[in-house]
Formats: sequence, structure tokens, C-alpha cells
Amino acid sequence: MIMPKKKIVIIGGGAGGLELATRLGSKLGRSKKAQIVLVDRNQSHLWKPLLHEVATGSLDGGVDALSYLAHARNHYFNFQFGSLTDINREERSITLADIRDDQGEVLVGKRKLSYDILVMALGSTSNDFSTPGVQENCIFLDSSQQAHRFHNQMLNLFLKYSALPGEKERVNIAIVGGGATGVELSAELHNAVKQLHSYGFEGLDNQALNVTLLEAGERILPALPARISAAAEQELVKLGVRVLTKTMVTRADPEGLYTKDNELIKADLMVWAAGIKAPDFMKNIAGLETNRINQLVVEPTLQTTLDTHIFAIGDCASCPLTKGGFVPPRAQSAHQMASRCYSNILALLNDQSLKPYVYKDHGSLVSLSKFSTIGSLMGNLMRGSMIVEGRLARFVYISLYRMHQVALHGYIKTSLMMLVGGINRVIRPRLKLH
Ligand SMILES: Cc1cc2nc3c(=O)[nH]c(=O)nc-3n(C[C@H](O)[C@H](O)[C@H](O)COP(=O)(O)OP(=O)(O)OC[C@H]3O[C@@H](n4cnc5c(N)ncnc54)[C@H](O)[C@@H]3O)c2cc1C
Repeated sequence: MIMPKKKIVIIGGGAGGLELATRLGSKLGRSKKAQIVLVDRNQSHLWKPLLHEVATGSLDGGVDALSYLAHARNHYFNFQFGSLTDINREERSITLADIRDDQGEVLVGKRKLSYDILVMALGSTSNDFSTPGVQENCIFLDSSQQAHRFHNQMLNLFLKYSALPGEKERVNIAIVGGGATGVELSAELHNAVKQLHSYGFEGLDNQALNVTLLEAGERILPALPARISAAAEQELVKLGVRVLTKTMVTRADPEGLYTKDNELIKADLMVWAAGIKAPDFMKNIAGLETNRINQLVVEPTLQTTLDTHIFAIGDCASCPLTKGGFVPPRAQSAHQMASRCYSNILALLNDQSLKPYVYKDHGSLVSLSKFSTIGSLMGNLMRGSMIVEGRLARFVYISLYRMHQVALHGYIKTSLMMLVGGINRVIRPRLKLH
């Protein structure tokens, strides 16, 4: 008897989901042993850790983005453009929202897709902790669209500044959250000013820019060793960034951010990059177990606690660590979880036992734009960490993205892409100027 082909549906083509779809497609889709479907609310993929570079223009998101349709055809999976809104576990089906054009006209109505195995890989969004005024006045760096919005507003502010004669108010940019995103963005902004000056934005130098980085905790980069956060803070201060630790933001309005002590941090542009949560519609979705930040609670096998046919990986999963605590929301976790989920899905299809996911901390690196890169490597291998800085750190930082590209395209195509990147650096402006 011919068994019907199993259908594996993956929601979210990000750092974890796209790698998983690529591997499953190449293994099971190609030989027609299973049907692999990837759903994403966008038509193209850009690796999320690059978003702060898109925001400041040091990376052109349009050049680096990957078309899901083209990638799906090359890797034997099917791509469905759409946004997940619900799961029906009895029917084993998911619902995707209407697709509308820019005028709000419905192009494709609400639709259902069936599945035998479902993988939730839809990432996270910034957590504003319901702070008043933040949604209306701050930009979040959660998607390419938001990064482009920041880029346009930043260029407009610098254009205005550069066109004004004589003495003028500095451009005030405030960033909430002293994690990697906030720290990296602060440094990228100073690089952007330097580059824009060289492209003819008159009077635009580091004096024109006033970046304030606000962190509620004791120190910036709390997830990294104290020595690294101290070194990063020193570098930022050297660049002219005002770093305010132990400073809680309690509200935002068009003037700027207000701290717990009711001090106004004036800002023309505000970014909220403090904390993450899974999207709000995930709270108790389909009766599955979720935690207080809407992540799906999973077993070490990455199956959700209440449904063995639904897996969750990456930022939207709450996965316990053997030593206590939870797997951190990082690109390296999503990458590793995609690998474990891949082998566990194969095991499930072959009635074999599933293996637990074990998080391997390869360390964390923070790029301070062209100025410096610092971080710690191989956290759990070195018992503590090996602290790296400078060119070696920059090389390892870039290789994290290369690993993602290799997982998607293999070594040969990744090498060609590096070559094209090198050529682009020669023929294109160093900063996206429009
Ligand atoms: C600016 C920035 C810098 C970062 N830098 C680093 C770094 O240096 N190192 C590091 O390890 N981590 C970094 N991170 C964190 C890292 O990007 C995430 O941990 C990682 O991308 C998580 O992978 P993921 O697959 O879970 O989700 P994502 O990569 O976010 O992918 C989720 C995908 O799901 C799609 N999606 C969302 N909702 C729906 C829906 N309802 N229906 C359909 N599709 C949906 C999205 O379009 C997206 O394609 C950074 C994050 C940011 C924002």
C-alpha cells in the first residue's frame, strides 16, 4: 500500500525556519518523500542581525535579501506568502490572514492549510512592556520595513541639519535597551555620520549627532562578561555616545523619552530595543502551553509540551537548559535548533526516538561598526570565556552570517556571494544614500 505523503508546514522563514525548510526540502522534498511548505508574511528573507546595518544604511537590504520563491524552487519546497493567525489542532490545519494590497483591497482571502507536522519558527518582536507612548513614538527594529523607516527618517534629519546655516540644534537619537542591538546601532550611527559627511552632507560630523543609549540594568550587554560590557561602554563613550545605565524609561511622547525620575531625554528619533516577546496572538494559541512572553513551551526534543506534532524553534520557543534557565533568543540558538528539529522530524517520520536539543554557547560578539568588535567565544567550552577583540573578533562576527549563508546555499554559492559582496563594496557607495 502506498502511504500518503506527509506534509510538513513551517511558519516563519527566518534564521531558524528557512534553514530547516532548506534542509527538509533538499532531503525529503527532492525525493518526493514528503511535501515541505514554508509560510512567511514577507516575500523575501533578510537575516535579522543585519537589521541595524540596514537601519543606518551601511547595508542595502534590497541587495542582500533572498527571494523565498526562488530559494524554494531551488530547494524543493513550496513557499506560501501569508501571515499565520490561528491553528486548529483537531483538524491539523492553520489559518492564514487575507493578503491585501497597499490600498487595503483583498488580493487573496483568508485560507487554510493542512499539516501533518507543524513547525513554529516565527521569531519574536520587541517587548515594550506596555510602556505608555512607545508604540506611537518609537521605532522597533523587528523587520526590514521598520529598518527602512528608521533609515529614511535618519536621512531626513541629517539633510535638514546639513541645510541649516550657522548654529543649530544637534540631531538627538535615543535608543532604549543596552543589549547587542542598542550597542551596535549606536556605533553604526556614528559610522553613518562619518560616511554621509564624505558624500557631501555639509557640517555633518560627530558634533552634529547626539546618541543616548538608555539601559535599565546595572550595565550594558548584561548577557556578556562584565569586562566586555565595560570595554564596549568605553568604546561608545569614546565615540561620543551618552550611555545611561540604571535608567528606566517610563513613557515616551513626541518630545522624547521620560525616565523614572521624570527627566526628559529629548529625541528626534527614538528606537526601542529592550527585550523580546513572541507575537501577542500566540498567547495560548490553540490551547498550547505558552509562557509570560507568549513563547511556546517545548520539551527538550523541541516538540510543544501538549502536542507532539507541533515543534517550535528559535525566538518563539521557550526551551529549558539542562543547567536551569532557558535557551537565549539568538541567531546561533535558532541555527542549532533548526538542525536538531531537522533530525527529530526525520526520526518522527521513521518511528525512531527523538533526541534532546542541547544548547552550545559559542560565545557572543558585538560589532561596534567599523570601529571595533569585541566579545567572548566558546562560552561553555572555555568555562567562562575567551575574550576576543579587534580583527579576529570582526572575522568571527562576520562568519556567523556566513554560517547562515552556507546552511542556505552551500559553500560554492556562498563563496560566489562573498565575491559579489567584495565587488559591490568597490562599485557601490559605502552607505545607502536614498
Ligand atoms: C537588530 C538585531 C540584531 C541582532 N543581532 C544578533 C547577533 O549579533 N547575534 C545573534 O545571535 N542574534 C542577534 N539578534 C537576534 C536574532 O536575530 C534572533 O535571535 C534570530 O533571528 C531568531 O531567529 P528565528 O528564526 O527564531 O526568528 P526570525 O529570524 O526573526 O524569523 C522569523 C520569521 O517569521 C516570520 N513571521 C513572523 N510572524 C509571522 C506570521 N504570523 N506568519 C508568517 N510568518 C511570520 C518573519 O517574517 C520572519 O521571517 C539580533 C536581533 C536584532 C533585531
